[in-house]
Amino acid sequence: MDHPENDSQYQGLKVETSPENPGIVNPYLKNRPRARKRELSVADYVEGIRKGDVTILSRAVTLLESTRPEHEAMAQEVIEKCLPFAGNSVRIGISGVPGAGKSTSIDEFGIHVLNEKGGKLAVLAIDPTSERTKGSILGDKTRMEKLAVHPRSFIRPSPSSGSLGGVARKTRETIVLCEAAGYDKIFIETVGVGQSETACHSMVDFFLVIQVAGTGDELQGIKRGIMEMADGIAINKCDGDNVERCRVAAGHFKNALHLFPLPDSGWAPRVYTYSGFFGTGIKEIWDGIYEYIDFVKANGYFDRRRRQQNRYWMYETIDQRLRNSFYQDPEMEQRLIAAENSIELGQQTSFMAAHRLLEQYFLKLKEK
Ligand code: GDP
Repeated sequence: MDHPENDSQYQGLKVETSPENPGIVNPYLKNRPRARKRELSVADYVEGIRKGDVTILSRAVTLLESTRPEHEAMAQEVIEKCLPFAGNSVRIGISGVPGAGKSTSIDEFGIHVLNEKGGKLAVLAIDPTSERTKGSILGDKTRMEKLAVHPRSFIRPSPSSGSLGGVARKTRETIVLCEAAGYDKIFIETVGVGQSETACHSMVDFFLVIQVAGTGDELQGIKRGIMEMADGIAINKCDGDNVERCRVAAGHFKNALHLFPLPDSGWAPRVYTYSGFFGTGIKEIWDGIYEYIDFVKANGYFDRRRRQQNRYWMYETIDQRLRNSFYQDPEMEQRLIAAENSIELGQQTSFMAAHRLLEQYFLKLKEK
C-alpha cells in the first residue's frame, strides 16, 4: 500500500515504501534439521561414565529415570555393565525435617570432606513429595551454592516419577552409575518423614539424622524408628542464643539413645552439636563418621550391611514389578473399578474381591 503521506496535498514529500517487515523468527531455521543430541549406545554410556564425563553421566541418569520401556531396558544394560566398577564408595544418608538445615549443612559437609579426603562427591536425593508436585525440593543445585560450582561434585535432584519405591530404586541405581564414574563419596539427602527415611537407610553405610533444638519437646516428636535407624544424630543451629538449648537437647538425645540396645553394627550412635551456617562442629561429625566406617569395615558389618541391602533391593524390585504388572494391566484396571463398586454395594467382601481379581490375573498370565 502506498504511504498516506504520498498524497498530492503533501507537496515535495515522498516517502519510500519499505519492504515487508521480516518475521521475527528466522524462516530458514524452520527447514533446518533440529540439532539433536547424538544417540548414545550402551557402550558409549559406559565408556563416558568410566571416564567420569559428567554430561554422559547426567544423560545416563536421565535415561534410567525415563519410563519408556526401551529406555528402561537400555538403562538396565548400562547399570549391569557399570556394576563391576561400583561399590567403592562411602554412602552417607542425611535426613532431617524441612528447615532443619540440610542443604546448608550438605554444602558445608561436602566442602569439608572434599578438602579433607580429596576424591569426588555425588549428592543425590530421595524426595517423596516430588511424586505429587512433579518437582523436587531436594538435591537442587541452587540450594547448595558452594558444591554447585565445585569441580569435583555432582548434584542430582530426586527422580520424580512413580511411587516412593520407584523413586528410591532409581536413586539406588544412580549410586551405581556415580560410583562407576569415580565418585567415592555419595550423600543421599531425604526429608525426615516416614517411608523415605527407611528407603534412604536401606542404601547407605551411615545414616545421619539432623535435628534442631526447638521447644524442648523434640524427643516427643522424634519417632522411635528414627532413633533405631540413626548411626549418628547431629543437632544443627548450635549458634548464637541457641547454643545452650542445643546442649540440653544433645543431653536428652544421649540419654534416650542409652535406652536402646547396641545396634548390629556394634557402634553406639553419637550425638553432635554443630552450626551448618557458621561451619562449627563439622569436623567432629566427619571424624566420627570416618571412625565409624573404619570400625565397621574392621568388624565385617560394613560388607554385611551392603549384602543385606542388596537382598532387600532384590525383593523390593520384585514387589514393584509384580505390583506394576498387576495394576497397570488395562483389563485389571477395569476389573478393579468394577470390584470397588461391588464392594461398596456390599455384593462381595473385600477379601473375596481381591481373591477373584488375583485368580483372574494369574489365569491371564498362564494363557499368555
Ligand atoms: P533444609 O530445608 O533442611 O534444606 O534447610 P535449609 O538448609 O534450607 O535451612 C533452613 C533455614 O535454616 C535457612 O533459613 C537457613 O539459613 C537456616 N539455617 C541452616 N543452618 C543453620 C545454622 O547452622 N544456624 C542457623 N542459625 N540457621 C541455620
